[in-house]
Amino acid sequence: MDLGIAGRTAVVTASSKGLGHASALALAAEGVNVTLCARSGGDLARAADAVREAAGGTGAGVHAVVGDVTDPDMPARLVAETVERFGGLHIVVANAGGPPAGRALDLDDAAILAAVNANLLTTVRLVREAVPHLRAAGWGRIVAITSYSVKQPIPRLALSNIARTGLWAWAKTAAQDLVADGITLNLACPGLHATDRMRQLGVPEGVRVGDPLDFGKVVAFLCSEPAGFVTASAVQVDGGATTGLL
Ligand code: NAP
Repeated sequence: MDLGIAGRTAVVTASSKGLGHASALALAAEGVNVTLCARSGGDLARAADAVREAAGGTGAGVHAVVGDVTDPDMPARLVAETVERFGGLHIVVANAGGPPAGRALDLDDAAILAAVNANLLTTVRLVREAVPHLRAAGWGRIVAITSYSVKQPIPRLALSNIARTGLWAWAKTAAQDLVADGITLNLACPGLHATDRMRQLGVPEGVRVGDPLDFGKVVAFLCSEPAGFVTASAVQVDGGATTGLL
């Protein structure tokens, strides 16, 4: 299937490793110019090389910005550098590192505020910065990488449950204001995938684990031309981990 996005330009945040990186690889393989970001410059440089290789002969370019996506100034910097380098912006894949584990009754205010900043506000800020450029192009795709916790709270990851369901409510609302402009806004909701994050949290015995590269391809599909009628959706990529009907 031709995803129809060759020559488009994307920003993918928190993308030197794991699910963000896999999304950047999949987009570059489709010929999409990609701006990457992460805090560690060494990892980011290696990631940029891999994304360049994935782009192969498509002609797609890669730009890497070292920085912390939770810094309120970072979204504006990412968008400005992307537009300067590639001449426009069409696709946003908003990702951030996950919050620490913790049960709901053990959380203090500071931990909750930090999770809301990292896993809700970072996306809201980035989308706010990007939307004028997507509107100017008359076309846009926005995907926020969240968690299946938006559908089914995970008892030991209360911070993830809180911040991501808030983001889901925001995205569901914001998507309505973007439909007329040809811009979609969806959530990609991973279950367990084999990344550094998952290795840190530990995987319960006997649980199926997804391949990050496959997850990245699902994100690329949500960013594609034929996915233009898919919006305001929270798409689970979780191997069936979510057991509810909604
Ligand atoms: P990962 O393998 O640990 O990779 C995280 C990536 O984000 C790295 O490139 C990291 O680079 C970057 N990053 C982290 N914090 C950042 C920040 N403040 N500013 C800029 N870049 C930052 O994580 P992952 O497993 O891909 O997870 C991605 C997201 O999906 C997380 O929110 C996670 O909670 C969620 N999720 C993952 C799974 C899973 O099984 N993997 C399941 C459900 C949800 P630097 O450290 O150099 O900045």
